[in-house]
Amino acid sequence: MATFSKTLPVLATPDVLVCGAGCAGVGAAVAAARNGAQTLVVERCGFAGGFLTAVIGAGFDGLVDSRSGRVVVGGVALEMVARMGLVPGATDAAQLRGMRFTRNADLVIAARQVAEGRTHLCSDPEKFKLAADRILADGGARVLYHTQVVDVITAGTGTDARIGEVVVANKGGLGCIRPKVVVDCTGDGDVAAWAGAPFDLFERPQPMSLHFRIGKVPASPQLQQRCAEVLRRAAGARGHLADLRALAGGVARVPPWAWARPPALRQPWPPPRVGRPGRST
Ligand SMILES: Cc1cc2nc3c(=O)[nH]c(=O)nc-3n(C[C@H](O)[C@H](O)[C@H](O)COP(=O)(O)OP(=O)(O)OC[C@H]3O[C@@H](n4cnc5c(N)ncnc54)[C@H](O)[C@@H]3O)c2cc1C
Repeated sequence: MATFSKTLPVLATPDVLVCGAGCAGVGAAVAAARNGAQTLVVERCGFAGGFLTAVIGAGFDGLVDSRSGRVVVGGVALEMVARMGLVPGATDAAQLRGMRFTRNADLVIAARQVAEGRTHLCSDPEKFKLAADRILADGGARVLYHTQVVDVITAGTGTDARIGEVVVANKGGLGCIRPKVVVDCTGDGDVAAWAGAPFDLFERPQPMSLHFRIGKVPASPQLQQRCAEVLRRAAGARGHLADLRALAGGVARVPPWAWARPPALRQPWPPPRVGRPGRST
């Protein structure tokens, strides 16, 4: 153990400090700022979106009631989908509200829906980052990227205890923010836990899963088979034998046109070579 003590500069004194700029953080910050609160967001990555952009989420789960196809979530979430321009013909949330979707967007299902000419809610990391920056700026929230919350300074005891300052670290070193209200959107409850709030931790946490995207590779059955084999071996090596059957069918071949690519990255597809899009060559 070591003791560390330092007097920290107060970097900001916002009304509301939102820790983490994932989906929850973007929603909280936009709502706070639009309601007139001076709002600051602190995010350890260099962009917003959390899981959806840093880990590449496949789609927006839960926005659509899968039985009726009706959009059942509104607010900032739906506005973000509209701003991302993912659904042809829907440039604002009100238009999306009136639409029917076949179901929630699973990667493979979404690809099939596109093939059938139906709408879907598949996410796009780069569009999300841009839309998040714009919705935060338009609402009046300020964002401090590349800044990690590392601790809190609490005042008072028992039920009177409250967070006085949130300690952050970035290239400028250590500093603190003194907000009136803190909203913990770290996805892990970091701030609440450091502040001493009680929490439950499941003794067997969900194993990490790896999401990634490969571009410009012809999707062939052989490639799919080889990917499945690599995953199978990895699962075997880690002793997750029960997962083998799921893994064998778990490699999704998504046709390139199923991804909405930002204009800057949009390239002609298929690349000039022999073969058809999404087919083995
Ligand atoms: C394997 C997996 C697959 C999933 N697939 C989907 C899917 O396809 N579609 C879907 O809708 N949902 C999916 N989910 C659920 C989705 O990830 C969550 O519902 C969503 O990410 C929660 O958003 P959040 O903002 O609460 O947290 P997060 O997205 O985790 O955002 C937390 C943010 O806080 C930041 N942060 C964390 N700690 C600190 C700190 N100390 N200081 C500063 N910043 C910090 C992080 O960098 C991050 O940006 C999936 C979840 C998992 C685990």
